[in-house]
Amino acid sequence: MPKHAMLSASGSSRWLACTPSAQFEAQFPDRTSSYAEEGTAAHELAELAARYWLGLLSEQAYENHRDVLAQGPYYNREMQVCANGYASFIKNRYDETRKHCPDAEIELEVRGLDFSRWAPGGHGTGDCIIVADGQIEVIDFKYGKGYRVDAVGNTQMRLYALGAIERYGALYDIDRVRITIIQPRISDHPSTDEISTQELLDWAENYVKPRAMLAYKGEGDFAPSADACRFCRAKEQCKARADENLKLFDESPDPLILTPDEAGAILQRAGDLKTWLADLEALCMRTLYEGGSVEGWKLVEGRSTRRFKDELKVAEAMTAAGIDPTLLYKRELITLTQMEKDFGKKTVAEILKDLIVKPEGKPTLAPEKDKRPAYKPAELLLNAFDEE
Ligand code: SF4
Repeated sequence: MPKHAMLSASGSSRWLACTPSAQFEAQFPDRTSSYAEEGTAAHELAELAARYWLGLLSEQAYENHRDVLAQGPYYNREMQVCANGYASFIKNRYDETRKHCPDAEIELEVRGLDFSRWAPGGHGTGDCIIVADGQIEVIDFKYGKGYRVDAVGNTQMRLYALGAIERYGALYDIDRVRITIIQPRISDHPSTDEISTQELLDWAENYVKPRAMLAYKGEGDFAPSADACRFCRAKEQCKARADENLKLFDESPDPLILTPDEAGAILQRAGDLKTWLADLEALCMRTLYEGGSVEGWKLVEGRSTRRFKDELKVAEAMTAAGIDPTLLYKRELITLTQMEKDFGKKTVAEILKDLIVKPEGKPTLAPEKDKRPAYKPAELLLNAFDEE
């Protein structure tokens, strides 16, 4: 089995929406990023912690391996706290499941989840699967914090669930599937969805299969969107995406005045514009950096800020010159976010429960589909009158 399937579960939200992308992006290199490397390091640690919490590893073995991982460039306290949170979550989930099904099984890092019945060559690796009579749960750990991933309707997780049903369906009667995503650096997580096995199979047969066939052959229409293009290898050079973004400038509404509705419509369609411009900049920068040329552009040295060569020697020199050393340092409390990173959210919440306030946030513009309730200025005004 090749390591990466062309119709991968992780890329499914893209190739299901933009079917030609699966073939089209293959001509572009798969560039890894420091975020991806950080994610891989966090996954390794989370899996290790989970094995320990589940009693599959001795403390000594856990600590030895953890010490090796801790030498990596991305390891830090926050990563450890997130890994422990994941381990604790799946241990609790497994214990709960065993209460009603003592034969329940748990598997970590499940390779070869095969959904090729619906998507040619489709397979992937699930972080954790708990299987019991009646239900299967597929759990995924995501370390990123730049992009929120929810379980509801998540195509990657649904494809893993299909692979899990293929794998365990002969041994267990599975009529419900629970999908959970743990993204510990995002608030309101974990996120969970439930679907019946029949609904999942209908989705696979009627939605996935026809699109996967198109994707496999490189057919169908390009369908650029912020979500589809975000992780596409073709995102910098795809003309379909460029055309879609450039359309914004073709249509001029009223010749003189732009109404708020028209401004809103432009903002909605401009969802991908900022990211697209950043991707174009990355393409030009890389081309120049690699010795190529881009007409009208060059690389220059960016701004840099002066800094001390050696802080200790700076303090010594200033003190020797008669400056009061206490004036050389400033002491301030670290931020709440930093405290949570350093000491863990739970510990901080317990110690500071009466000392943390959350002021009302300033109104901010959000698309209609945003889950937060709409801000009502008029209501706030009435409340203010009531209080007088
Ligand atoms: S960049 Fe967007 S439109 Fe172009 S192939 Fe990729 S997903 Fe499709």
